[in-house]
Amino acid sequence: MITVIVNIDLYRYEIHSLLKAFYPREDVKVLTEADAVGSRKYQQIAREPFLRVVFAEKNITLSFCDGSDQRAAAVLGDLPADRKSQELKTLLKHLLYDMLSKREERTLPWGELIGIRPTKIAMQSLLDGKTVEEAAAAMEHDHLVSPGKALLSAQIAQREREILADIHYKNGYSLYVGIPFCPTTCLYCSFPSFNLALWKDRVDSYLDALEREMKACSEMMKGRVLDTVYIGGGTPTTLEPAQLERLFAMLEKYFPMENVQEFTIEAGRPDSITMDKLRVIRAHDVTRISVNPQTMKEETLRLIGRMHTVDEVRQAYAMCREAGFDNINMDMILGLPEETLEDVRDTLRQITDLSPDSLTVHSLALKRGSRMQKYIEEKGFSSIYNTDGCMELAAEAAAGMGMEPYYLYRQKNISGNLENVGYARPGKAGIYNILIMEEKQSILALGAGSISKAVFDHGRIERSDNCKDVATYIENVEEMIGRKARLGIGDSQ
Ligand code: SF4
Repeated sequence: MITVIVNIDLYRYEIHSLLKAFYPREDVKVLTEADAVGSRKYQQIAREPFLRVVFAEKNITLSFCDGSDQRAAAVLGDLPADRKSQELKTLLKHLLYDMLSKREERTLPWGELIGIRPTKIAMQSLLDGKTVEEAAAAMEHDHLVSPGKALLSAQIAQREREILADIHYKNGYSLYVGIPFCPTTCLYCSFPSFNLALWKDRVDSYLDALEREMKACSEMMKGRVLDTVYIGGGTPTTLEPAQLERLFAMLEKYFPMENVQEFTIEAGRPDSITMDKLRVIRAHDVTRISVNPQTMKEETLRLIGRMHTVDEVRQAYAMCREAGFDNINMDMILGLPEETLEDVRDTLRQITDLSPDSLTVHSLALKRGSRMQKYIEEKGFSSIYNTDGCMELAAEAAAGMGMEPYYLYRQKNISGNLENVGYARPGKAGIYNILIMEEKQSILALGAGSISKAVFDHGRIERSDNCKDVATYIENVEEMIGRKARLGIGDSQ
């Protein structure tokens, strides 16, 4: 365990995140001096801290406590009394990053950035009138981001601006509908997902509750333009054809579909896709579908609990093409247990043979306490392999399919401290994916585990969560509706 002692309760999250980025295998604790003396448990672990951070009146000092005499200090001049300034936070992060990178003799691809939306920084630079190159240079200088990642962020931000040119920011919104059932639960899953076999008898009750939520919330959004619709989950294609038909009929009854620029459905699990279901989906103007292999290695599919074969991925993909879909996305994950660079190369080769219209490349994110985390603890960390080399391989394969990167985000505890990138052929980018990352348009989200986001004037963002548990959602849907009314999503910009 790595322990850090800070003399006052400031910037613990930033210190923790940077240390985790350098030492992902370690449990990191950031304690104040008050914590360390006030609790017997903490006294124990604080006895030999790794690092001490001292905020004094006119300076800040960081020192390693292992006798190495490594120390960094900055003179701050006159500070605001409450010390919660962006300037001080940035200074601390630069100082700590500099110390850690010297000690470890390595830099991090994303420098001192710990947020999940680096393209927002590049986007702001573009909006301020900078060129792509200037926006990239600013990220390198201000946040110590590597030249490659800085340029990628700026190029993506530029592409996002072009793709979002026709979005109605002032009076428009996007709609998310969650169907939280899956054939089985993947080892790494962090989404609302309930095993269909156990919940089969309650799917219709779930759709009843969803209809109540749709009806009430569509009233809140009356008069506004609906730009994009995304049906996610879970796996929406676990619904039977008649249930899917009902879902689309509900959407068309309550929401204004005439201006929708993109209508996506997740058909993530190939083992949930049938031709009958695809015919229903096609009949309702869905423009984009996602069929997700995650990997094309049989052993890994079994290991991560997906219980479908590589051949089923190919069959599901062929069925989507046969049904007439001309915008098929595929998701893959880098850093899956036991997978090597060669496995990644092989998955990319097989995906290239299928030739989807977009490819979303995720770096595995390890949630604390998840089944995957337990697996890693049992098997050892060395079984997870994700490097910039894997990302480059994916970028090359995407380029080979005529795709360009169009959105990017990072997650907490992401393998290799890397990123997730969406690639698409021209005209096939997932608009909703960009909107959710850029946070410039309100998103009305319905169903268990969904999170609505209301964007108000001056960029103020407020969120409202629906409960994750299906049974609780069904019983308390009126409360979920009330939350959105209180959020004032109908009055957002
Ligand atoms: S398909 Fe997606 S939502 Fe379903 S269990 Fe797997 S990761 Fe979770």
